[in-house]
Amino acid sequence: MTSPVDTIDGTSIIDELREIVGEASASSAKHVRYAYSYDMSFVLPKLPDFVVMPTTVEQIQAIMRLANREKIPVVPYTAGTNIGGLCIPERGGILMDLKRMNRIIEIDDEAHYAVIEPGVTHAMLAEALQVFDLRFGWPVGPPSASVASCAISHGIGGLNARYGLNSQEITSMEVVLPTGELVRVGSCAINGEAWHSLLPLPQLDGLFKGWLGSSGVITKLGIGVHPTPPLLKVFTVSCADVHDMYSYMLNLSKYEICDDLTAVSWWLSQVPIPSPYRPKPDGAPEFFSFANTTSWTEKEREAKEEIWQMVVDEEQAKGTSLKVTEYPEEALRARTELPSQIVGSTKNYCKEGGAGISWPGTFTPAKKWAPVYTDWKRILIDHNLSPAVRMSMYRGVHYGMLRAMIPFSKETPEAIENARHAIVECLKVDLEHGGIPYKPPVDFAIEINKRVHPGYLDLLKRVKHLLDPNDIMNPGKLGI
Ligand SMILES: Cc1cc2nc3c(=O)[nH]c(=O)nc-3n(C[C@H](O)[C@H](O)[C@H](O)COP(=O)(O)OP(=O)(O)OC[C@H]3O[C@@H](n4cnc5c(N)ncnc54)[C@H](O)[C@@H]3O)c2cc1C
Repeated sequence: MTSPVDTIDGTSIIDELREIVGEASASSAKHVRYAYSYDMSFVLPKLPDFVVMPTTVEQIQAIMRLANREKIPVVPYTAGTNIGGLCIPERGGILMDLKRMNRIIEIDDEAHYAVIEPGVTHAMLAEALQVFDLRFGWPVGPPSASVASCAISHGIGGLNARYGLNSQEITSMEVVLPTGELVRVGSCAINGEAWHSLLPLPQLDGLFKGWLGSSGVITKLGIGVHPTPPLLKVFTVSCADVHDMYSYMLNLSKYEICDDLTAVSWWLSQVPIPSPYRPKPDGAPEFFSFANTTSWTEKEREAKEEIWQMVVDEEQAKGTSLKVTEYPEEALRARTELPSQIVGSTKNYCKEGGAGISWPGTFTPAKKWAPVYTDWKRILIDHNLSPAVRMSMYRGVHYGMLRAMIPFSKETPEAIENARHAIVECLKVDLEHGGIPYKPPVDFAIEINKRVHPGYLDLLKRVKHLLDPNDIMNPGKLGI
């Protein structure tokens, strides 16, 4: 068996990597590798053996061929902000940092799609789209993170109530397979100039979405972008009880007037989130909600306001705790003016926490939000962590994002283990209620696989083996 340092023909891996990407773009220096060994999550650090920063598709292909020949793991990386340890190299190997591949190749302002490289950040694309009055569903995360990584990881953004997940915006893909071949899926597979649609072809894009970088390296992505209506109106309410908030959101969501329909617990509405846990002040609402609506004309805006008012009246007639209230100002700007430097800077998340943030991030049927929240709150408070929970409706359906963003201290192994334990306990509760975690850390993948249908697991393994026969792409992340 060869060491990861030397190839089978005796040359060193680092020399071969430097030959591919250039002297300055490959390193095995410990201080460079260290920077990629950890993230903000509870996942324990592990060092990669090499860091490479390719700038072309051909370089990525050459790296994959080398890695395959030598059976060295490869971990794709753009900004490492996924807060689930997804870029921490479980088995060492090559950390492939793609942030230098950051060209916006095309913005088709007529057909409404953009073609981007994996290193294009939310901030870069937002600036470029603004010129055309176009928009995308920016997450409430760091503006410096990658649009493509968020989309292929089923990330969610500020247009999720209108257009769905960011992965549902993908229109075409170019991918380097783990074995080094280049493939295209969607319209660009038929005509290299056409990046507008995945359909009506067989949806092979599914081979690369939700796989946590374990099935190929995305090198180009087509994504749908949308016109920006000029009038933004944000409706804000609060409730003393999670059930009342659920009832309001269910009622409002059926009219499909919102770009984003979200509720956050008192703890998540604070800037920064209290950490460790602090009780909310007496009389403060348990949940705040913001419903972002956009309109083309004053009349459209008024019609939306009429619908919203009708929902509020209906809910209040039920004797609910729902009140029309102001949402805390800085937190509201942070969630409605995206990409956000307020929440996205992590100021909101770990300023008090001591460097750690992790989450149970899930897609959960809306009718289960209240029971899951109630259990999460108990578990998190028992662990001295804030129940900073968010609930968001998706496009036209009554399930959505239920997640807790949990700042925690990384000062001691005990504090990290405390957070890990609490978060995995929360995840188990959600799984019991039919929720599904997204961007799951390995601890979650293990819990999923304990419960999953054997046929699904078998199929997953077979597809993984077909694409990645030597199990070199981000190995271990799927928990299989
Ligand atoms: C405070 C905070 C708030 C956040 N809020 C949100 C939110 O509202 N919505 C949301 O969706 N996310 C959110 N996130 C998570 C994260 O910021 C986003 O999903 C982000 O866009 C991920 O981009 P990244 O560049 O950091 O990806 P990385 O962490 O670098 O990578 C994510 C995954 O994609 C894989 N990958 C990366 N590039 C490629 C490639 N080219 N080919 C194949 N696989 C690849 C990696 O291996 C990894 O598995 C938040 C994070 C923080 C810290």
